Amino acid sequence: MNVYDSNRIKDLFEPKGYSQTSKVEDADLVVLNTCHIREKAAEKVYSDIGRIEKKFSKNKKHDYKLVVAGCVAQAEGIEIKNRAPRVDYVVGPQSYQNLPEMINKNKEFISDDFLQNEKFKSLIFKSSNIVSEFISIQEGCDKFCSFCVVPYTRGSEFSRPVKEIKDEIKQYIDQGIQEVILLGQNVNAYHGQGNNKDVDLAYLLESISEFEQIKRIRYMTSHPNDMSDSLINAHVSNKKLMPFIHLPIQSGSDNILKKMNRKHTRNKYLEIVNKLKSKRPDIAMSSDFIVGFPGESDDDFDLTMNLIKEVEFSIAYSFMFSPRPGTPAYKLTDIDKNIKKARLSALQSLLKEQQKNFNKSFVGKELEVLFDRKGRNQNQYIGRSIYNQSVFITSKENLIGKILQVPIIRSTDFALEAKKQ
Ligand code: SF4
Repeated sequence: MNVYDSNRIKDLFEPKGYSQTSKVEDADLVVLNTCHIREKAAEKVYSDIGRIEKKFSKNKKHDYKLVVAGCVAQAEGIEIKNRAPRVDYVVGPQSYQNLPEMINKNKEFISDDFLQNEKFKSLIFKSSNIVSEFISIQEGCDKFCSFCVVPYTRGSEFSRPVKEIKDEIKQYIDQGIQEVILLGQNVNAYHGQGNNKDVDLAYLLESISEFEQIKRIRYMTSHPNDMSDSLINAHVSNKKLMPFIHLPIQSGSDNILKKMNRKHTRNKYLEIVNKLKSKRPDIAMSSDFIVGFPGESDDDFDLTMNLIKEVEFSIAYSFMFSPRPGTPAYKLTDIDKNIKKARLSALQSLLKEQQKNFNKSFVGKELEVLFDRKGRNQNQYIGRSIYNQSVFITSKENLIGKILQVPIIRSTDFALEAKKQ
């Protein structure tokens, strides 16, 4: 989402005569687009500001404008100006469309309203990647998981109308994209307007797949409670929808899920996984896990490990719990760090093993890959398989933008190698 927002901020400034520079100290305008999910997010932003200031003063350049944007800007607001007086403007993730005007008119330095509707109407959309593009279709969250800052920094759930999303995609199609990755903090809670009625994500996916030039569609991140039958069925009926789903569960224990305020149970999650697998047996599952949430016992942790063994993930992201200021879980008593570390290490070993086995299962088989960028080595190209794995290949021909069936000859922990062309 932040990559998407950063691209939009860049697109807003280009018509005003700005261009991107690779050296920060050459800039007239620096926009620090921040993420509040990171641990000690605010502290890291202040140290980044310090580093930027140092670079400019070394170059004896003082006439630059410094902006803090994103979720830390939203959460900290005026405090940023108090702690870092060199910051000229502070702008939250739902009002950054006002930035050019704020700077042009030297207006008030802070904008932290939730103006999603107005935001999308004012944005400019230029493709940043010639093959695959992120599209924000839904923002905000009404779920209020007890560990998460998103409902406070991104506001309540908002869905863009179908027409507006398709108009954005049309602009990228003109610039050559073939894959869209639909983004939302709760992407499957999507409930936009289409055809004068409320429509869901399955409808939107079907409508986007009518674009002949769009060959692949992905979406993330989903919540189990919004995994409707229509969306599960779309994984069978919509041939452009990739057989990969990122569906966070966070813990395999109902006791911990309740403490996390996830509003779903372990069984509900497993039911969804089984439904998906029965309809689309090759679907690759991905998830997020928080290890060592306050009150997590050995039994709770074992339940998470058992769930991982039962589902078998193709990839997953796991983190040790760390409290985020302003969330209900911040006040809970944290468990011993060494216990958390040991559990995280066991869980990550299991997930790594599953990822390794998943990748290995494709060696000797053919996979469909969309190549989207050059690799580090000469004549090397990298793409994504239908299951979202990285696949690299050596080829004298430029493969960027090509969708090919390639024979897989080797797998590593994190990627696959295809036979030289
Ligand atoms: S559903 Fe996701 S974004 Fe919403 S509060 Fe929970 S973790 Fe945060």
